[in-house]
Formats: sequence, structure tokens, C-alpha cells
Amino acid sequence: YINEDPVRDFYMREIVSPVTRDVEILDNQTLEQKKMLMFGSNGYLDLANNDEVWPSIQEKVNKYGIGLGGPPLLNGYTTLHKKLETKVAQLKNKTGAMLFSSGYTANLGLITGLTTKKDLVIFDEYSHASLVDGIKLSQVKSRFFTHNNMEMLEELLIENKPKFRNIFIAFESLYSMDGDTAPLNKIVELAKKYGAYTILDDCHATGVMGEKGTGGCEAFSTSVDFIVGSFSKAFSMTGGFICADESYIDYLRVFSRQYMFSTSMPTLFVAGILSVLESYEKNKVALLKRIKSHREYIMQELKQKVTFAAIPEASIVVLRVPSKMDITVINKEFHSRNIFVNSIHYPAVPIDEQRIRISLMASHTSEDIAYLVKNIKEIWLKYNLN
Ligand code: PMP
Repeated sequence: YINEDPVRDFYMREIVSPVTRDVEILDNQTLEQKKMLMFGSNGYLDLANNDEVWPSIQEKVNKYGIGLGGPPLLNGYTTLHKKLETKVAQLKNKTGAMLFSSGYTANLGLITGLTTKKDLVIFDEYSHASLVDGIKLSQVKSRFFTHNNMEMLEELLIENKPKFRNIFIAFESLYSMDGDTAPLNKIVELAKKYGAYTILDDCHATGVMGEKGTGGCEAFSTSVDFIVGSFSKAFSMTGGFICADESYIDYLRVFSRQYMFSTSMPTLFVAGILSVLESYEKNKVALLKRIKSHREYIMQELKQKVTFAAIPEASIVVLRVPSKMDITVINKEFHSRNIFVNSIHYPAVPIDEQRIRISLMASHTSEDIAYLVKNIKEIWLKYNLN
């Protein structure tokens, strides 16, 4: 080895090809290029590099260009931006939608735009950093409930209802570091019972959860007040959005500072997302079926042999690694077998909860999945990890 620096070796890996089911990387250890099977991308549907998408992007860019000169309220709103808002509102079954340059800023924009010091946000402890940062920035009061703990959520609602003007409950449909889902129906039921608003981070579920892939609400046949999403996961692009009733969106357009004072998503990105969505509409049935069959095969092959962080419900499979094991050794094993996975450890998760995170893509072949499974079995056996 040229060096033995796990941070340099297994994080910030330099990819020298498109990110699809396999990638070419510049190996930090050998300084040579090598091909790896990609199980570390959130681009679950692998739509960003297919041949259908490029001509469609080109056509849009020819008409609208690539960039803008300001935020949407003043001068950063094209027909493409409007079209994308309409499409995303339809996808989420809402009357309004607004775009942000990332899912991160969408969460900041929602919490800071929506809440005041008289309100309370009650959130699942596994909520994404962007939700927590939104709370910090807005200075709204907050309490958390332990992951998916509905009794605790109800206690917090009972205790705090008389003390605050509005209560918002924030949670995710698909948790990215465990692969499990929230009990959406129960949360919505409690919100109704105690007159609270619901805020759903649907970033990882958008495109992959539910029969039609529209996200958490479809999967649980329910509806929430506010949905935050990202185009950076299943749709392989960058950009975020909020969907809600149009009146809330009109309000947020002027009260969300991340929206009002920041230049719009570049037209090039919007063209890319729209083109990806067109391809998604045509192909989603087959794509979703493949992810499901990959997931089922993995569970069937590994259920006796590994500890899943949770039962995988969509495109994320997470394997726990005992805390006594140096997880970089495990990542090195995957790396040397040309499998790109993500090792997640402190400070991203508590010290005793380290894990290997595997992202399934619709473009993976059955052979790719079989190769992954075979290697997991070998590595788990070699290090006695179960
Ligand atoms: N919410 C969740 C649950 C996420 O996992 C992420 C991305 N890691 C975000 C929000 C932020 O999305 P983006 O990458 O588009 O900024």
C-alpha cells in the first residue's frame, strides 16, 4: 500500500467515470484506476446517465440556457422552473411546490420560514442534520422523541399542547442510516388528535417508496401538511423542494429567507431533473420491480447471517458491525473486492452503532447482487461478525 489512511482511502474516493451501477475510481492505495460495483450511491434509480436523458436535456438547454441572474421572486423563474414545480406538486399530491438549491436548504427554508418563537418542533431523534440545523437557525423551541417512539411523541404532545401556539411534528418516511420507515399513519393520527402540523422529510423515499414510487404518503395511504424532498437521491441530480397547500407555499415564498434571498436552482439542473422525471415516468414500473427483487433476494440470503440495522423497506440495506471491530478493516475488504459501500461510524452515528450502508440501484443486475451477497457472507465469516 502506498498509504494506510482510512479517511483518504475510503472517503472522498475520486470517481473518474459516470456514477452508475459500476464506477471507475482512482484508487488512493495503488494510485491506479479500478472498476468497482457501486453500492454507495443514493441515485437509486440510476437515471442520470442513461441515453434517453441527454438529448432531452440538450433540447431544454437550447431553449432556456443554463443559468439565471437571481432568486425566483425577482428574476430567477423560467417556464422550466414552473413546470418542475407543477410536476413535483402532482407527484406529492399537493396544490403547491417550491424549489430550493438542495434538500438541505429546503429543510432550513421550511423550518425558518414556518416557525416562530411561540411554536414548538417535536422531531424524531434520527432526523437529518438539515432539520436540526433549521431548528437551530430559527431558534424555535424543540423537543425530540426517541426513534419511532409513539408513546413518547404522544406524551410530548400532551405536555406541550397548552404551552405553544403551533406544534410541528417532524419525521422522515425512509431513514437513510437504518433503512427503516416511520409509522406515518400513527404520527398523522396523533397530529390530528392534538392539533399539530406534520412535516415529512421524504428525501430518500421520493421515487422509490409506494407502488407508484411517489414516496411515504403513497406507501402509507396518508397525507401530511408539509413534505420536504430532494432530487439528489433516486433522481441522481441536485436540488430540493417543499410541497404543501398552495397558500402555505405562497407564504413560504416570502418568509423563507433561503428561498427569497438565494439565486434559483440553475436552469441546467432544472432541465436535467425534468428530463430524468420524464424517463422515470416511462420506466418506473420496471425500475421499482428490480429494486424490490434485489432487496428480497438480499434479505432471503442474509437474514440468518448478518444483523440488519432494520428490516430494509426500500432501497437502503444497512448491516450492523459490532463495535469491537475496526470498521475500516471491513470497508477495506469490500474495497479490495471491488465493491463500493459506505462505512458509517462515529461521529455520524453513536460509537456502538457503526454500520455498513448499502444502496441498491435499479440498474444492478442479478449477478451484481449475487456478487455482493457472496462477499458479505465471506467477510462476515472471516471476521466472525454476526
Ligand atoms: N434530508 C435527508 C433525510 C437526507 O438524507 C438528506 C441528504 N443526505 C437531505 C435531507 C439533504 O438533501 P440534499 O442532499 O439534497 O441537500
